[in-house]
Order: sequence, then structure tokens, then C-alpha cells
Amino acid sequence: MRGKILKGVGGQYQVRSDEDEQIYTCQAKGIFRYQKEKPMIGDWVEIEPLKDVTQQHRAHIVSIEKRKNELIRPCVANVDQAILVMACHYPDPNFVLLDRFLVMLGKANIPAFVCFNKVDLVNAPETIETIQKTYEKADCQLFFVSAQKKTGLDSLQSILKGKTTVFAGPSGVGKSSLLNEIDPMALCQTGELSQKIARGKHTTRHTQLWMLDRDTYVCDTPGFTSLMITDLMENDLRMYYPEFLEYEKDCRFLGCCHYGEKDCGIKKAVLAGLISRERYRNYRYIYEELKMNRKY
Ligand code: GDP
Ligand code: ZN
Repeated sequence: MRGKILKGVGGQYQVRSDEDEQIYTCQAKGIFRYQKEKPMIGDWVEIEPLKDVTQQHRAHIVSIEKRKNELIRPCVANVDQAILVMACHYPDPNFVLLDRFLVMLGKANIPAFVCFNKVDLVNAPETIETIQKTYEKADCQLFFVSAQKKTGLDSLQSILKGKTTVFAGPSGVGKSSLLNEIDPMALCQTGELSQKIARGKHTTRHTQLWMLDRDTYVCDTPGFTSLMITDLMENDLRMYYPEFLEYEKDCRFLGCCHYGEKDCGIKKAVLAGLISRERYRNYRYIYEELKMNRKY
């Protein structure tokens, strides 16, 4: 039977079979131990139910289908897109984190969306306009929603259909509230999410996929504040700032990093108001960060 791994803790995997639509508790068959490959959440796998009648809904994972992609943090395979959730206020958005997220997803070649929740707390409309202007050329769609007032949720929901979506974001921004609004039925099936809300934040949770309907999955990930970009040279960071591209021809040096160089087209564009100052400031911050991390 073919199924998808929804959850995996301590060598036990919860696999939802496509054929009988049941959840099986599985262990990987012995041969995996001799291979490097380890099943991941999001994997499509072939399972073999145990014959013993006392072992209902237990199975072995016998093979893993080739992955479309894999994210390391959170650890999940076959991701179609990712949504970073931030709050407009309480907590205020962290734009460096947002940029790190976009770089990380850009590097993994996974489409990224950003959802600003709690719009009901915004008093000045300029707040939203400024955010929109900052990211208009950053190649990511923004959503402004309120889980509490239930606004903007339809457009968010429409991009989920038929996809596997990773939800990420710092705690307190309203991820659980949003996921609950988006599909209360699917999420409360197991009661785990409501328990999670009852337990409050800061509990260690495991990454897990939730099925909203056939072919639609969301992955709720534990806090994301410590997000670090790995395996990226600071000199390559510029590739993940798409709005820089059209001004690179104005840099004096080929391969200019738009950092310490003289006669830099990007710096000129920032001064002329053609590239967002905020984005350039984040760029410099992350550039320094990558350089520092490389030294250790
Ligand atoms: P999580 O840690 O990201 O899962 O955040 P929660 O869903 O637990 O929400 C954190 C807090 O923000 C809770 O007190 C929610 O009631 C509140 N909250 C969530 N969404 C909204 C919203 O749209 N507007 C307002 N004002 N508060 C919200
Ligand atoms: Zn330059």
C-alpha cells in the first residue's frame, strides 16, 4: 500500500494509507538500517501491513519514493511551498527573520509566502503599506489576515489546496489560531491541536503533517526564531535578493557583493529610493552573519 508519513517519533512513523485511508503505525524494515536513507515526514512510502490480527493498523515501511525536495529545518520532505507567519503587532514583525526565511526557501527552490496576522491590531494603515512596499520586488506574495476577526482567510486557504505547505513562524504570532480557523475539522480530528493550545506555548513539539483533505497537507513547525541559514557563502547571498538584479550592471566590479565595494549599483539604487532601505539593511546584517558563522 502507498501512504504518506505524517509523523515520526523515535523510529515509529504514522503513515496514512492512500488506499484504505487509515493511519498505520509503522517501523522501517530492517534493510533501512544498513542503508543511509531514513524515512522523513512527508515521504511517500510503500507499507506492508503486519499479518498478525492482534497487530491491527501496524505495518512496515518497505520503501521510500524519490523525494521532490527535503528541508532540514524543519525536517520534512516533498514540500510544495512555505508560509512564514508573523504578527503585525504583538510581537512586532522581525524583518531579518523574514529575510532569512526567504533566503533559505530561495536556496531550496521552494515558493515562499508571508502571512501577517493580527491586522485587527493595526491602527495606522501606513504600517501595512510600508511592509507591502518593502517586499513588492522580493518575489513573494504577502497576506494580511486576522485569525481573530476572520479576515483575509479565504485567499490564504485558496493557496493551500492540493499542496503540502510548511507553516513557520515565531511563537505568539497566531499560527495555531490560524490553522484552527483554516480547517477546524481536520485539525481537531485528533484533538492534538486543541490540547496544544491548552498546554500553551513553549512546549517541545514535533514536526508533523496534518491532512486537510486529500492531497492537501500542512506542516506545523515548532518555533522558528533560531532559524539559521547554512551552507551559503556570504558572496552568494545577493542571488536571493531578486530586486538587486537589475542594478548589478551599474556596479563597477564584476561579482560585486554590494557591501564594502566602491561604485556599487545597489548602493546607488538604495540611495535613490529604488531598492528598499530595510531590505538592504537586512542584506548587510545577514551578510555579516554568514561571514561570522563561516569563521567557526
Ligand atoms: P502561536 O504561538 O503562533 O501558535 O500563536 P497562538 O495561536 O497561540 O496565538 C498567540 C496569541 O495571539 C493568542 O493569545 C491569540 O489569541 C492571539 N491571536 C491570534 N490571532 C490573533 C489575531 O488575529 N488578532 C489578535 N488580536 N490576536 C490574535
Ligand atoms: Zn554592487
